[in-house]
Amino acid sequence: MSYNPPPKGRFEYYSPDGKYLGEWGSGPFAGFRALLDSEYDMVLANQKRIDAMRDDWDPGMGLENRDPFVQPDPGWTKPLIGPIGWAMFDASKPIQVQVDQKVFLEGLFTDAKNAHGAEKGAYMVYSFKLLTLSLVRAVNKAPAANQKTEFVWDLGKDNLGRRTLPTDSTKVVIGTIHTHWDDNGREKPELSRDKDVPSARDNKFVVYALDRKYLHRADPDGVPHDRLARNITDVLSSALRIYGKTF
Ligand SMILES: [Zn+2]
Repeated sequence: MSYNPPPKGRFEYYSPDGKYLGEWGSGPFAGFRALLDSEYDMVLANQKRIDAMRDDWDPGMGLENRDPFVQPDPGWTKPLIGPIGWAMFDASKPIQVQVDQKVFLEGLFTDAKNAHGAEKGAYMVYSFKLLTLSLVRAVNKAPAANQKTEFVWDLGKDNLGRRTLPTDSTKVVIGTIHTHWDDNGREKPELSRDKDVPSARDNKFVVYALDRKYLHRADPDGVPHDRLARNITDVLSSALRIYGKTF
């Protein structure tokens, strides 16, 4: 079995539950990749073994002086894995990140304006099964009279306690995004302290709010970052990095 070198660039690896495993490679970011924890552990164990063998080997040492009891590792002599980064790349699969996030989110925002400020929202969903990271429209479960001030999420939970879509526990909800709009421009330029920030902390995911001027974000540890630049080209990648490194 042989491996082809992966394309150049830095790759980040994520487990089925969205946990950040590690990264490999250098240079500009090339992509997210999905990998089983067990495969990641196996590759790391192999690397440790190879490193240990390198440390033992001294090219200046005469054959006659070598320790006869040092046995070559069968995994190493076979070149089972080739260069370690290639093995990691080979065992993993690319995760497709939704490309039209800006269009999607401006659509959400327009809907909120047309609804005179009723909050609109979307789940940020990571699927190891489909190898996708995407935005999924959500229904605001708050009573109609409250929808201008709150968004109530319908959420499921997997057996690890992670938040998932209510109808599909293989789709991990790594975060949510909702709108803040007031017809008279009186929305507060920040996340609400009584709902948005606790939602991030309690669900251990990333919460974004979008208003006409800013993007706001609360991290899973409950720390709010208000009035960020309104850059919505790729909120999903930032969300996965924050979410994945939380656990
Ligand atoms: Zn809010």
